Amino acid sequence: MNAPRVLVVEDDPQLLGVLATLLGEEGYAVDPAADGQRGLHLGLTRSYDVLVLDRGLPVVDGLALLMCLRERGVVTPTLLLSALGNPADLIAVLDAGAEDYLAKPFDVGELLARLRALRRRHLDVARSLPLPGGRVDLDAQQVVRDDASAVRLSQRECALLATLATRPRHVFSRSQLLGLVFDDAGSEVVVDTYVHYLRRKLGRQIIDTVRGRGYQLGR
Ligand code: CA
Repeated sequence: MNAPRVLVVEDDPQLLGVLATLLGEEGYAVDPAADGQRGLHLGLTRSYDVLVLDRGLPVVDGLALLMCLRERGVVTPTLLLSALGNPADLIAVLDAGAEDYLAKPFDVGELLARLRALRRRHLDVARSLPLPGGRVDLDAQQVVRDDASAVRLSQRECALLATLATRPRHVFSRSQLLGLVFDDAGSEVVVDTYVHYLRRKLGRQIIDTVRGRGYQLGR
């Protein structure tokens, strides 16, 4: 099992350092970012298990950052940290698509517990992801179609399909998929090969080819 990956966007360098150290000790692989623009870039190009975003950030504010990620189909569970800590702020943050909220100053033990709870809830949901005409069940490693018929997948077929299904509106480049699914092993041709396997099992429409850009879950 790989370490869970967390993106932490916080402009206070001291707090960012503390959070990175703590989360690292808790077993996370941490990507720190000091402003919203860097956070947006990482959030759109890498896959995370959970996001921790500060509300008040330079360049792109934490709320705008979260809304931008959600608009682009990033569904990663997110906790927002906020120095405001009033009910109106809480409502704005939850409406923007955050799963949880913690007012500053916060207890680090509470932050870690909330992130554990967030990931547990998300894992329960994420064990099954919607597809055109069915869903992929990650535990059983199979696709269950709307007519209740099931198609078994290999581990890598399942990982590739699940990656595409995690962000249904996102176009993944072949190199991105190579890194996310195949740990950069081999050439990008291996991605094409597995797309071919999935289409043979599930029909051509399961994955769209976006010319010059890569692949996307079928619509
Ligand atoms: Ca701040």
